[in-house]
Formats: sequence, C-alpha cells, structure tokens
Amino acid sequence: MSDPTNAPNPEPRTKPTHMPLEWDTPMYRLAVDQLDQTAELMNLDPNIWERLRTPQRAHVVSFPFRRDDYKTVETVFAYRVQHLLTMGPTKGGIRYDEGVNLGEVTALAMWMSWKCAIMGLPFGGAKGGVRIDPHTLSSDELQRLTRRYTSEIIEIIGPDRDIPAPDLGTDERVMAWIMDTYSQQKGYAVPGVVTGKPIEIGGSHGRREATGRGVISCAKEACHSMDFSLDGASVVVQGFGAVGRIAAQLASTLGAKIIAVSSVSGGTYNPKGLDIDAVSAWLEQNGDKLKDFPGGDFVTNQELLELPCDILIPAAIQNQITENNAAALRCKMMVEGANGPTTLEADAILADRGILVVPDILANAGGVTVSYFEWVQGAQQFFWSEEEVNRKLIDLMQSAYHSVEHLAKEKGVTLRTAALMRGIGRIKQAKHVRGVFP
Ligand code: NAD
Repeated sequence: MSDPTNAPNPEPRTKPTHMPLEWDTPMYRLAVDQLDQTAELMNLDPNIWERLRTPQRAHVVSFPFRRDDYKTVETVFAYRVQHLLTMGPTKGGIRYDEGVNLGEVTALAMWMSWKCAIMGLPFGGAKGGVRIDPHTLSSDELQRLTRRYTSEIIEIIGPDRDIPAPDLGTDERVMAWIMDTYSQQKGYAVPGVVTGKPIEIGGSHGRREATGRGVISCAKEACHSMDFSLDGASVVVQGFGAVGRIAAQLASTLGAKIIAVSSVSGGTYNPKGLDIDAVSAWLEQNGDKLKDFPGGDFVTNQELLELPCDILIPAAIQNQITENNAAALRCKMMVEGANGPTTLEADAILADRGILVVPDILANAGGVTVSYFEWVQGAQQFFWSEEEVNRKLIDLMQSAYHSVEHLAKEKGVTLRTAALMRGIGRIKQAKHVRGVFP
C-alpha cells in the first residue's frame, strides 16, 4: 500500500457505473457514500479506500425449507457477508427478515467493520441474513430453518473464522441452535462459534442487555455534553425489541421519562410518561399490538418520530429518518440504536438544525463489545460476574464516546463523521502494516 500522506487526488476506482455490483442497493449505497465522504476528508490512500468499498466474501445460498404440514417445501434465500478479514475473525449478527437482501447484509457488514475498529475489538465486520418473516414461523419451523441455514454457511463460520450473533428477528434460542448444529458437525461442543447464546452454554452475563445499555451510556454522555441531564429528560423509542425495550427500561431506571414507544404495528404515547414494565407485560399478553394499550394514546411509527422530546432513540429498522421527515423531528438529540436509521440527506438536515446525532456505529456498539467479552470468556473458560461485564462495557463505551467527540471537535465534523474517521483510520493502519499478499 502506498503512503497515505502522499496519496495524490484520492478517488476510488470501483464506482458502480455500467455494471452494477451484485450488492448495489440503496442501503449499500448509503454505507459506501458514508465511506466515500469520510475517505475524502481523511485523504485516505485510494488503494485502501477501494478495498473497503466492497466485501471480501459474500456468500449467497438458497435452500429448501419444509413447513410443519410436511407438504410445503419453500426455497429460501440467505446470505453471509464478510467485509473485512484484516483485523481477526469476522463478527456480526444474523437477521431474519422478509426484506433482507445481499446489499443490506453487505452494508451491515461494513458498519460492523467500522464499529469493531472504533471500539478497538480484534474483529472485522460480517453480517448474515435469511429472507423470511420469522413471525410467521412456528418454533419447530424456526429451528429447522436455523439448522439448515447454519449447515449452508458452516464452512465459513467458526470461533476463529466468523462468529455470528443475534440481530433483528433472532435471539438466544436461535444462537443455541446454530451452536448445536455446528457442534454436531464437528463432533464436539464449540460454544465459541456464536455469541449472544444462553448462559447455560457459555453465554455472557449482560449480553442480552448490552446493546441497550451501550445506547443509554452514550445518551448519558451526550446529555452531559449538551448540558442537560438524562434524569428528567423526555425520551421516545422506536422499536421495542432486544435493543429498544432495554434502552427504554434503563433510561427509565435512570430517571428519564419515556413518553412513547412503538413496535412494527405502531406505538403508544403518554406525555406524562409510560410505565415501561406495563408496556412489556401488555405486549407479552397481547402480541405485537400497542394500539389498545390503556396507559397511552395510539401513534403511528411516523407520528412517533416527530413527537417533541429531548432524546429520540430509533431502535427498529433502517431508513426511518429521511429527507421527508428530518425537518419535522422535534428532539434535541438522536441516539441511533438501530443500524442505518438515517439517510445521508437526513443527516445533513439534522446537522444544519443543530440536532446532535450519536451514530449507530458508536451508539449500538455495546452489543458487539459484550459479544467480544463472551468470546474472550469462552476462550479462557473463565466467566465474569454481571457487574464486571457491565462495568467493563460502560468504561469502553464512555472512552469510545469521548474519543469520537474529541475528534469531532478537533476536525469540526459531526459525531458520525468522526466515528467513521476513527474506525476507518484504525483499519487503514492495520492494512498498512500487513501489506498486500503476494
Ligand atoms: P428485534 O427483532 O428484537 O426488535 C425489533 C423491534 O422493531 C420490534 O419491536 C419490532 O416490532 C420493531 N419493528 C420491526 N419492524 C418495524 C418497522 N417497520 N417499524 C417500526 N418498528 C418495527 O431486533 P433488535 O435486535 O432489537 O434490533 C433492532 C435494531 O438494532 C436493528 O437495526 C439491529 O440491526 C440493531 N442492532 C441490534 C443489536 C442486538 O444486539 N440485537 C446490536 C446492534 C444493533
């Protein structure tokens, strides 16, 4: 690789022109546009810039999936993308969603690379996805689907190779089935092949709450920078799953007033504050329907994003804050629990309006950080207490937040650009010292 300080007129050479790349979708373009903007500001070595724009490995599979009636056999599409193999094994979640495609998984794998580098974790980014709506599956169907998907990607995953974790639509149960399927093929138990697994088979204390805890840890630091306290702040959370529910619970414990939360079918709003335990209990009893929740008024997901509040936490899916609604947001800051919730255009509008955005690659990095702790504990067969895990997580989140904030001030850029600079900068250094084979 050439010396980045001497790089003339940096410009990547693989801009998709006449032949679109297989993964070229809007979400992939968002990830690449973020990289391009940052690379230009950093005067990044064009050789490294070009390498980072595409994934190193992209595995596409289709497989037969038998429904419970034992008659219907569907063909299911699934993916595992490894963006960067420079830093160590690759790491990233697996999502089950009917809209998943190669471009989405590739973008998510890129973001994982930056995220791991920002946190100083010895991983490159990866992501997996199965194109199916998991909410239509019975538990048996979910298990069969998971075991077959694992078999299809078995050659490219492993504790020293690529380590999946939960994401949208997947959970501890799914991780246990992946671990079991992988272990059956190897002939011995291999807990290190996944993280986010149940405690009984080598999971870590605090992993379930880690992403939400990281989000709230960042929110707390950001409040401090903006001279107000999380205690007493009004908070709106979109998405009430693994990330959003915990973020809402923890913020509420710290004295914040959660005024609205939502799931896929809409949300509930109470300007006086919601009882988060009551919302959880309601969802458990009534399925994914907040419409009739007695403690609040119904709001659509779109209305929820535009409610007046101190802190908005998008924690559902990508592409929620766009040029169509960014001007209508009425929060002081936004802390991104979800991956890719904000488009490039919306980002610029929010920056112009002085709304602080704590970007996904920093704010939701708590999950992969405790996944790293889980991997380390498994390798050592020495397990930590929940307090120890939480303390180490908060230490790392705070120091990452401050390092990114410091860089943002120094360079006069947004937190997102600074976070990208930090992550990409560390990867650049690693690529330089490793060189090019052969
Ligand atoms: P989850 O499946 O546990 O929960 C998702 C929540 O979002 C649910 O409440 C669901 O009803 C809601 N939702 C789904 N589609 C929606 C839509 N169209 N509009 C509004 N709400 C919708 O998923 P999760 O693990 O909490 O992941 C949420 C986001 O956080 C994703 O972007 C994921 O990539 C990101 N993330 C998750 C982790 C993790 O550890 N689970 C780590 C980092 C980032």
